[in-house]
Amino acid sequence: MAASITFFPVDNGDMTLVQLADLAGTTILVDIKVRAAADDTNDKTRDVAKDLRDMLKKDDKGRPYVDAFLNSHPDDDHIMGFEKHFYVGPLSEYPDDKKPYNERRIVIRELWCSLIVERRASKVHKLTDDAKVFNKEARRRIEVSRKKKYVGVAEGDRVLVFGEDDESGDLGGILIKVDEAFSKVNEQDVSAYFTGTMLGPLPAADDAEDELLAKNESSVILNMSISADAKTPGACRFLTGGDAGVEIWQRLWKKHKKNPDVLRYDVLQAPHHCSWRSLSYESWGDASEKGTTAKVNDDARNALAQTLDGAFIVASCKEIKDDKDDPPCWGAKLEYEKIVKDVKGTVMCTGEYPSKTSQAPLKFDVTAEGPTMPAKKASDAKNLGISAAARTPHPHG
Ligand SMILES: [Zn+2]
Repeated sequence: MAASITFFPVDNGDMTLVQLADLAGTTILVDIKVRAAADDTNDKTRDVAKDLRDMLKKDDKGRPYVDAFLNSHPDDDHIMGFEKHFYVGPLSEYPDDKKPYNERRIVIRELWCSLIVERRASKVHKLTDDAKVFNKEARRRIEVSRKKKYVGVAEGDRVLVFGEDDESGDLGGILIKVDEAFSKVNEQDVSAYFTGTMLGPLPAADDAEDELLAKNESSVILNMSISADAKTPGACRFLTGGDAGVEIWQRLWKKHKKNPDVLRYDVLQAPHHCSWRSLSYESWGDASEKGTTAKVNDDARNALAQTLDGAFIVASCKEIKDDKDDPPCWGAKLEYEKIVKDVKGTVMCTGEYPSKTSQAPLKFDVTAEGPTMPAKKASDAKNLGISAAARTPHPHG
């Protein structure tokens, strides 16, 4: 199976599926946003839950599953539809086997969560029911893992926790620390096909710093190195960081500027739906009203500008218009276009793909030469898109 990254059109929000090139076709889903309109067959909104189910594999009982599901942070536009579309609880009690395939809830073999991010999000706003269901399931799995002393935990009970937190106590082998690289998904060694490096959430020295990071939409930030096949590791680097704000990207640059390799990417999910606030401390709207230009923060921009040859920046949001709105922000789009210009890269927007009036999932296949440009229209798939052969080989391996 070819490795791929698929961005589903969910308006302002994230829902991204990574498929690995291993024999099992391991899947990692980052966030979910399924609006009621997307579930309504009488509504024109793209049925992304169907799109997702169509791409997933079924287990031997005919249940759709993902090998891993990561919630970058518990905001509604990253967890909406979780309770409806995902199964929570012990797998032995799965109740949907007699239902039609499209109504069977998706099994999560291993849940990826962050207790730090959850705690910070709870400080700044109320969590939705979907977020509460996710958090409850994360805690159930952590308890099962603890009781088993982190050995022999069954599929459906497995969990990874991103970020070390004083309050969470000993987490044994389920803890991934900041800057740690890992190559196991659902306890399978997929090191020939995948390495994830966890860059955030960043730890805080004290409460004031914790508050600051909370206000900056603390999120799980991962740089995934995805192989095209077992012989070409690192064919595609995918950097995704939820809604992390400018302060967080600035810190990441200060921390990694001497060795920025961990920030390099072929595909970047533009943070916070192409928000200006991931690149700048100033308001885009206020500056526009005054007729001035809001200033970009150089450190944050550097963190988000570690492009590899032919890099793509994907804004997961509605159509980006030349106005005062943020997110998505016109100014951020222009800045990202400048960032990819030197490497002949491309900025894309899920709300404009394949057109502004009708959207479809935006899928990059990962070849030995890197990610391939998705076709502009599904019907033109054969004619459009840059062929793998036309791309310059990547400097990394
Ligand atoms: Zn968001």
